[in-house]
Amino acid sequence: MTESSAGQGMRLFADAVARVERIGEQAGVDGEVVDQLRRPRATLTSSLEVRMDDGSTRYFTAHRCQYNSVLGPTKGGIRYHPEVSLGEVQALALWMTMKCAVVDLPFGGGKGGVELDPKSLSHLELERLSRAYVRANADFIGPDTDIPAPDVYTNARIMGWMADEYEAIKRVRAPGVITGKPLSMGGSEGREEATGRGAFIVINELANLRGMDPRQTTVAVQGFGNAGYHVALLLQGCGYRVVAVSDSKGGIFSGDGFDIESIYRHKLAEKKLEGVYCDGALCELIDFEQISNEELLELDVDILVPAALAGVIDTHNAAKVRAGIIAEVANGPISGEVDAELHERGVIVLPDVLTNAGGVTVSYFEWLQNRGGYPWSLEKVRARLRDKMIPAFRSVHELVENEGMTYRAAAYVKALRRISEGIAARGTRDYFSSTSE
Ligand code: GLU
Repeated sequence: MTESSAGQGMRLFADAVARVERIGEQAGVDGEVVDQLRRPRATLTSSLEVRMDDGSTRYFTAHRCQYNSVLGPTKGGIRYHPEVSLGEVQALALWMTMKCAVVDLPFGGGKGGVELDPKSLSHLELERLSRAYVRANADFIGPDTDIPAPDVYTNARIMGWMADEYEAIKRVRAPGVITGKPLSMGGSEGREEATGRGAFIVINELANLRGMDPRQTTVAVQGFGNAGYHVALLLQGCGYRVVAVSDSKGGIFSGDGFDIESIYRHKLAEKKLEGVYCDGALCELIDFEQISNEELLELDVDILVPAALAGVIDTHNAAKVRAGIIAEVANGPISGEVDAELHERGVIVLPDVLTNAGGVTVSYFEWLQNRGGYPWSLEKVRARLRDKMIPAFRSVHELVENEGMTYRAAAYVKALRRISEGIAARGTRDYFSSTSE
């Protein structure tokens, strides 16, 4: 890890805490809650020793943060990325705390990460590293304490290795220790698409409320990973015009809109969007332009969907963003410093803690299925995801309407109030000072 990613991580965490403080204060939320959320409950940092294919040994810094468990066991993904740092993991764990509370899950928030470029490792090295992560954290995680899941650059196969290692260490079957597993290891139908599907539901609800016609609505999606791909696909399936998509190497723009499925197939074959070419009759009619990620964020579209990494919209480009609605499908794509500026310019921000909560919601369903030993059908998972996401959106929307807040402030206030109830149920200062008299 470079010095700068450690510094960036610390700034991200400070920004995340400052946002909770600011919104908590504005909304008059009990100071005890905000105080509790200023720091994580526990973070375990370890050094993973991994045997490489050439016989050498490498060490990778890994973190697991259990941020807050007032509402239940801590829950949140593990990311593999060269820029992972302690501060970033803690910020992400704080956001998971808010996210689980916004969608009324019986979970607190956690997160994990390993500093590495996963693309530089062979499959066998990746397996050894994933198992080493579990060995380091085996007494920290557990089905009733802290439940990991996939995040940036981790997937079902990696979750499968991790579950397998945990079960080998504990000598029990414990599928509920981790979610996002392969189906054959107790994974859930619909988990893969869940983040994108949840985001689609939220975006579509807002668009309906505002009387927007999907066919007249343009969308740009930054990030074409699991979440970005699924949200783009579902929006397009509902008639929205997805005019731009990008991945870490660059993006493409077409005023007529793209066929997401064919772009995805090309990306799988070419490994990058830049290499997208058209081979179908319809495709040949589409004229597209190559654009950078920065240009994508500044496109004049109705809905901008940042679905990659944190901090892509900050003081250096917020003024140039022209979209009327930004749906945060990534975690933390908008820096806290520009919340007010975007609001003043009338930009509606659908916050990450609501918009991308579909992933952890289906993780919760997976955990329930593992505990019940009874798998659900895809239809049931999708229906129950809707049943979680729509009321969550509506309760946030009501706060926006009734208390004149932004969607982010409303989502945070909802989460803070739930956490506050959890704290109050165990006794408040007022309760203890009055009974001790
Ligand atoms: N990594 C996902 C998120 O940031 C999912 C977490 C989970 O399923 O626990 O929401």
